[in-house]
Amino acid sequence: MARIQQMPAHLAEVIAAGEVIERPASALKELLENSLDAGASEIEVRALKGGKTLLEVSDNGGGIHPDDLVLAVARHATSKLLSNEDLQRIRTFGFRGEALASMAAVAKLTLESRQADAAAGAAIKVDPGVGVSGPFPLGRRVGTRVLLQDLFENLPARQKFLRGDQTEEQRLRDVLKIFSVAHPEVGFRFVSGDRERLNLAPATLDQRLAKLFPEIDWIDVAGEGARFRLTGVLSHPHQHRAKGDDLYVFVNRRYVKDPLLRKAVQSGFEGVIPPGQWPLGAAFVDVLPADIDVNVHPAKTEVRFLNPGGLFAEIRGCIQAALREQRRPPGTTLAASAANAGRHAAMPRPVMAPVGAPPSYNAPINRQAQLQVADSNHPYAPAAAQPGFASMPGLDLAPLGSLGDRYLLFRENDALILVDQHAAHERVRYDRILAALGGDKQPTQELLTPEIFSAEPAELEGFRLGGEWLAKVGFVVEAFGPETLRLRSVPRWFRGDPRPALRDSLKEISAYRTPAAIERETRAIAASLACKGAVLSGRKLPLEEQRALLQQLLATPGAETCPHGRPIYRRMTQAELDRWFGR
Ligand code: ADP
Ligand code: MG
Repeated sequence: MARIQQMPAHLAEVIAAGEVIERPASALKELLENSLDAGASEIEVRALKGGKTLLEVSDNGGGIHPDDLVLAVARHATSKLLSNEDLQRIRTFGFRGEALASMAAVAKLTLESRQADAAAGAAIKVDPGVGVSGPFPLGRRVGTRVLLQDLFENLPARQKFLRGDQTEEQRLRDVLKIFSVAHPEVGFRFVSGDRERLNLAPATLDQRLAKLFPEIDWIDVAGEGARFRLTGVLSHPHQHRAKGDDLYVFVNRRYVKDPLLRKAVQSGFEGVIPPGQWPLGAAFVDVLPADIDVNVHPAKTEVRFLNPGGLFAEIRGCIQAALREQRRPPGTTLAASAANAGRHAAMPRPVMAPVGAPPSYNAPINRQAQLQVADSNHPYAPAAAQPGFASMPGLDLAPLGSLGDRYLLFRENDALILVDQHAAHERVRYDRILAALGGDKQPTQELLTPEIFSAEPAELEGFRLGGEWLAKVGFVVEAFGPETLRLRSVPRWFRGDPRPALRDSLKEISAYRTPAAIERETRAIAASLACKGAVLSGRKLPLEEQRALLQQLLATPGAETCPHGRPIYRRMTQAELDRWFGR
């Protein structure tokens, strides 16, 4: 065995660098953070071969003093942290003072900069294993340029882990996309080889999202807890994705990968988008710097919260509330916006301008209008109508009839509303089921003659596992002999023959096998139960029932989509009709 000795400094550097710089995209992330910390409003990125042979970031930020250039690339040298207390209240992206040093250990690095009050700029060059040369005087505009060449050339083992040029370039673009959403007030340009890949002028968050995802309709979310503020712009529930890649969550404008936070946002959409699907967009959580620890990981992509459990439940609640309340009629201003939640006091705050919603936008129905058609004696009607609104003047919501016995037509002021009657009915029943499961006692109806049927093994198993679940919903089932079940009562909202619906549900529940799985899949089970026996497309509903259904729908949170995520209604304003007819 060899004796212990201190390793050579350059080896220690390379090892430490590996934690921060894994690939061109991680270098880009660090460089963008530096530019933003320097207050840049324009950032330009150039890359060759996915950033492997060349990666360059130029900004118009505050710049570096010529005498500090050499220090900037030294490990643990930073202008952002001076004391242990500073570490408890980090307001900058950087603070570890090791990004530039790490890059200089694994690539040739050129650093050029000029400060606003300086007559000229200066530059240094660092070659891994060789050392620093400079500073040289240099004429250039105010700001900083960092050039990285031949990443990992001195580390063939690392280089092997880099992917093809295309893949690395895609990762660069992903990083830029994330930063551009978090900082819409900053202009970003990205040139790869000789092709311009991205050119985003300084904008509002709305404009930026519209540019990046032109096909998406957005809703605002905003809310506050005791120790945090949430703002964001997320996709309308009628649009969602199988993957969560385009849902960005920022904590104090820092992009974090935290799966729990992402889940918290996703779970706010439970029941309004299909299970397992993801919303997209940006959610900004702002907390006091003292309530989080960002010094968890060298790449700073994780944060630790003082009280995660409570926070996540509150975030979920805010999003649910926003979805219930969402009203963003075309042409209105975004009031609360993520971009108002600033991190740098000194940084320019983006101005939220009015933006017209895209024509496909499904504007929310005026929920107060429902009370014009209140009819609380009807089976679909809510238990208690809210009397206060009944005489709201100027509101007008009238059933116009139905189309093909599948779509209901209503007039609301000067808009036309089309409702998918099956989807609407399903949605109403689904919410009843969830309310019952949540402990809200829903009226049940004793059957005059209980339904007795001999059950198949799967149905018996479903009864054993889910008898209580069904009882909470209002289907009271009992064992009536070893292979016989008896249905005693059904929820009041239930219409039609309960036996097939019950048997299907029992079979479905048996497939989940354990009470834990039933608990977990409770929304899926509720969704299919809601679907069974809901008025079908093709059945003619009397006018009174049409009104009552719409009224109930309007009292339902997340009524824009059915439990499977399909839209329930479409609203066409007169302006849209005018456009349609070329007026
Ligand atoms: P950190 O960001 O943690 O301080 P870095 O190694 O990333 O560490 O940068 C070291 C220092 O160099 C920063 O503290 C900052 O003063 C300066 N610096 C780096 N990049 C820029 C830039 N683009 N504009 C102005 N100053 C910069
Ligand atoms: Mg930094």
